[in-house]
Amino acid sequence: MRFQRPTGPDGRFLPVSPERRFWKRVDKQGPEECWNWLGAKDKDGYGVFRAFKESRAHRVSYILWRGEIGASLVCHACDNPSCVNPVHLFLGSHQDNASDRQSKGRYDSIRGEKHYTHKSPEKRMRGSKHGNSILNEDTVLLIKGRLAQGDRGIDIASDLGLTKSHVSLIKCGKAWSWL
Ligand SMILES: [Zn+2]
Repeated sequence: MRFQRPTGPDGRFLPVSPERRFWKRVDKQGPEECWNWLGAKDKDGYGVFRAFKESRAHRVSYILWRGEIGASLVCHACDNPSCVNPVHLFLGSHQDNASDRQSKGRYDSIRGEKHYTHKSPEKRMRGSKHGNSILNEDTVLLIKGRLAQGDRGIDIASDLGLTKSHVSLIKCGKAWSWL
């Protein structure tokens, strides 16, 4: 589908929307793959894009895809900070990630039936990619303990024979947050 630049009632061109500017900077791949940010990145490897009072590209991507997120943290299931594929992004817990956060707004948790995976089950990661499928409580507690000690997610994952996505999900408080 060809993009048609929007025009106002008088026929003059309107400013190009943030959405249009955003997707021009994304290396779009298949739906399951990482979509890397082609524009500027910050020191942590996150894409930089200013829109909707946000400055990180993955947060803007999530907002474009799902709407308002308030002050919630947007986590990467793929552990790739420059990825902006909305399917790889999910809202994480503020409490488990206080150190990652810079803004001080009120934390609005979107969980349970409000979370997009419940509204759109087809968007869930499936099988071995899904964090809950092969983890048990002992493993999760072990991972949480090691994360608390400052171990890197990728090291823990390789020690336990897990993908780093599993560890990342726990780190972000999405999976097993009740433990
Ligand atoms: Zn990704």
